Amino acid sequence: MDTIAKRLEAIRAELLPGVSLVAVSKTKPVEMIQEAYEAGQRIFGENRAQEMAAKFAALPNEIEWHMIGHLQTNKVKYIAPFVSLIHSVDSESLLEAIQKEAQKNNRVIACLIQVYIATEESKHGFLPEQVLPLLEASSRNRFPNVAIQGLMGMASFTEDDQLIRREFSGLAKLYREVKASSGLPLPILSMGMSGDYRIAMEEGSTMVRIGSSIFGSRS
Ligand SMILES: *Cc1c(COP(=O)(O)O)cnc(C)c1O
Repeated sequence: MDTIAKRLEAIRAELLPGVSLVAVSKTKPVEMIQEAYEAGQRIFGENRAQEMAAKFAALPNEIEWHMIGHLQTNKVKYIAPFVSLIHSVDSESLLEAIQKEAQKNNRVIACLIQVYIATEESKHGFLPEQVLPLLEASSRNRFPNVAIQGLMGMASFTEDDQLIRREFSGLAKLYREVKASSGLPLPILSMGMSGDYRIAMEEGSTMVRIGSSIFGSRS
């Protein structure tokens, strides 16, 4: 079986220019994260606040921790002191909670707006038409300790590549539109996982979140 270093190398070789890689380490032990770290990986994604906080405490400070999973407002406090990017902002009340905790920690927390794009099952996220008003509220300084950096989305869990492509291309179009209308820099479009990152990159992703193709499947 390939090592983590080999799998990372193979995935990095496929990344299109300007695409960064989040190694999704949720449920995986610190030893495996350390192995990826030693192979040069610096960005790791987790979906549970307390698990991320425990791993942060156990691993090198150079790691950038990204929250990628649904985050409850009462859990923001566990990650607010150190999280580098929250991909999964899916409600205004979560944005308010992040604002509050970021201010307490005297920092600005980078966030992505999660957009609901999957047609086949219920996933968290804002509707496309809600995104621009939210960006406008944030640029009016309603959330001074939050820096919105772009959008995130998850495609349907399906074998239908055409459907996945349509969902990603729809999100990419929304991303270009809100970038133009808001005038904000919005450098990040986070889309693509182990099963669909190639399609996501072809459709304009700038950040892919890959777990099982690096660390093996999760039980
Ligand atoms: C688990 C997860 C991933 C990674 O999934 P893989 O299929 O293991 O690559 C990416 N994004 C989110 C939001 C996830 O929860």
